[in-house]
Amino acid sequence: MKFHVMTLFPEMIEQGFHSSITGRAMEKGLLQLDAVNIRDYAVNKHMRVDDYPYGGGAGMVMQAEPVYRCYEAVKEKIGRDVRVIYLTPQGRVFNQKMAEEFAAEEDLIFLCGHYEGIDERVLEEIVTDPVSIGDYVLTGGELPSLVMMDAISRLVPGVLGNDMSAVGESFADSLLEYPQYSRPAVWREKEVPEVLLSGHHANVDAWRREQSVIRTAKWRPDLLETAQLTKKERILAEKILASEGEL
Ligand code: SAM
Repeated sequence: MKFHVMTLFPEMIEQGFHSSITGRAMEKGLLQLDAVNIRDYAVNKHMRVDDYPYGGGAGMVMQAEPVYRCYEAVKEKIGRDVRVIYLTPQGRVFNQKMAEEFAAEEDLIFLCGHYEGIDERVLEEIVTDPVSIGDYVLTGGELPSLVMMDAISRLVPGVLGNDMSAVGESFADSLLEYPQYSRPAVWREKEVPEVLLSGHHANVDAWRREQSVIRTAKWRPDLLETAQLTKKERILAEKILASEGEL
C-alpha cells in the first residue's frame, strides 16, 4: 500500500507516520509514503498558494492551480487514476468499514486542506472521496490524514505483528471489543474475571461475546441497530439499555 499525501506540511506527515507500527511496516516495505509539498507547485515567485476568498469573509483559501499541478505530478508518478481523499469536516464521517474499503487499494492520494479550505473548482476536478474524521473543525488535514492512514495501515496484511490482531476488534460485527486484562491476576485487590484464568476456550469466548454486547449497549447503543445478535443477546442488550435509561 502506498500513501501519497498532498500537503503544505510534509514534515508533519513524515514524523507522524515514521514511528511505531507504521514505521516498522515501512522498513519492511509493506507500506510506502510519499508526502508532497503543494507549495513546490506554486505559480508565483513568492511561492504563495493562498488568496482572499471571492465574496469576502474571514481567512484565506488555497488556490486551485498549485493543488492541481501537485495532483498531476503525483498522478504521473503513480501512472493511473487512483482515489483522491479530500480531508474535510464536510465529508462522510470515517469509520472502520471505510478503512476496510480503502485498505483494498494499492495507492491512495490524500489531499490536506488548510486555512478556510481549497478552491471548490479543483476539488470538483480531482476529489473522489470527501472524508471527515468527526464533527469538529481542525486547523488542517494533516492530523485527519494520519488518523485515516493509521486505521487503513493496520488492515494491510503483515502490518500488525500477528495477522489475527485486527480480527474481533471494536466495530467488527458492529460491537465494541470485550475488556482486556493482563498480569498480575490481582492488581490492587482487583481480580481478573475467573473465567479468563480457566483455560476453557469455549467459556472464554462466550464470556467475551457477552461482555461485548454489554459494553456496546452501555457505551455505544447506536451500534446495536446493525449488530447481528441472537435472541438471548438482544434480550440482554435490552435489559442493559433499560437499566441505563435508554429504553
Ligand atoms: N472552512 C472549512 C469549513 O467550515 O468546512 C474548514 C476549514 S479547516 C479550518 C482547514 C482544513 O482542515 C480543511 O480544509 C480540512 O482539510 C481540515 N479539517 C478540519 N477539520 C477536519 C475534520 N473534522 N475532518 C477532516 N479534515 C478536517
